[in-house]
Amino acid sequence: MLLGAIADDFTGATDLCSMLVRGGMRTVQLIGVPPPGSPVPDADAVVVALKSRTAPVARATGDSLAALKWLQAGGARQFFFKYCSTFDSTEHGNIGPVADALVAALECGFALACPAFPTNARTVYQGHLFVGGVLLNESGMENHPLTPMTDANLVRVLSRQTEGTVGLVPFATVDRGAHAIRDAMTQLKERGRRYAIVDAITDAHLLAIGQAAASHTLLTGGSGVAMGLPENFRRGGLLADAVDPGALPVLDGGSAVIAGSCSRATLAQLGYARAHLPVYELDVLATPDATALSKAALAWAADNTGARPVVIAASAPPEAVTALQARLGRDQAGALVEDAVARIAEGLVASGVRRLVVAGGETSGAVVGRLGVACLRIGREIDPGVPWTLAAGSGPDLMLALKSGNFGATDFFLKAFAVLEN
Ligand code: ADP
Repeated sequence: MLLGAIADDFTGATDLCSMLVRGGMRTVQLIGVPPPGSPVPDADAVVVALKSRTAPVARATGDSLAALKWLQAGGARQFFFKYCSTFDSTEHGNIGPVADALVAALECGFALACPAFPTNARTVYQGHLFVGGVLLNESGMENHPLTPMTDANLVRVLSRQTEGTVGLVPFATVDRGAHAIRDAMTQLKERGRRYAIVDAITDAHLLAIGQAAASHTLLTGGSGVAMGLPENFRRGGLLADAVDPGALPVLDGGSAVIAGSCSRATLAQLGYARAHLPVYELDVLATPDATALSKAALAWAADNTGARPVVIAASAPPEAVTALQARLGRDQAGALVEDAVARIAEGLVASGVRRLVVAGGETSGAVVGRLGVACLRIGREIDPGVPWTLAAGSGPDLMLALKSGNFGATDFFLKAFAVLEN
């Protein structure tokens, strides 16, 4: 294992994995920290997916340190703490406290912090995070229900979360390339700064930052800043040129889509799918009962399984979601739907489905938990940030594509299965 990463949420972990596979690293995602002594996957990079973004601080740091310990025991040479490209965190963390704990445990004294991901329109200039053309705190993220981001100045935001101090490597330095960035980070470390927010506006900046951090024990950031890391290992003679790091066996069996995301992209993908595939929609408001909903959906699936994938969706437009939430409460509505879709996933697998697309971050977490998946080997991307994976755990091996709600093109549900045929 060359790179050992700790991700603060599930689909964020997959996003990082995809970036590393694109760079030529064979990559495995683990769901939670494996028990001590469990076998280390045969991979160049291992990403441990936690649910630590909004967990209580003590749990977030505890889980992250447990993951670090496991990755250290597995022989990782460099470590990466992955968080969201919009720096999703509360006033108290968890980015700062987790990073502090990792810096202390690794005794490295310093880590860069760079959430920039220009491909997804996240850029950092003079320490300020932009989403598209607007500052983070005007991007809608200021209204996020769990992690409202009301300040775009990341030096200030991270300073509030850490016991250390935070410096900046500004655009003018980053634009001069890897040597200038490395020198600036060394100076900040010598001046006692624990972190450096590093500006980045283009992929060229991210590649230069990655090169500048080749000897760093720990990096922190979004998946973008991992872009330059595979080349470091290759340059050091540690990473062979893999023929196809995302090559996976294609499993035989039934194909299905389960959608629990109510995001705009997923609703559009369902609209497209209706014209091409058999689609079943759960009426949660009419039957607010997970067992009954899943039974009816599975009976429909049994009648409609054939050559084409079946699509089962809980997803609904905002007014329907609001109606259900008004009746059951926000948390209970979400939990009911997640329970129903997880049961449906379990039933589909029991009936022979082996290729499954799941839409929605929380939905994916619920499905993976129910199916007892422990480990995902990352394959080729269907659309940016969404790869096919080979899932192993307590049940049969499965091909899983876990899609963050807003990811993927309109034809995603068809394209996902089409790419398996090539
Ligand atoms: P995304 O990745 O788009 O945020 P998630 O799966 O993370 O998607 O979140 C969607 C949430 O909405 C889940 O908790 C899911 O159970 C819930 N949900 C899905 N369909 C409905 C519905 N019809 N009414 C209310 N909540 C729903």
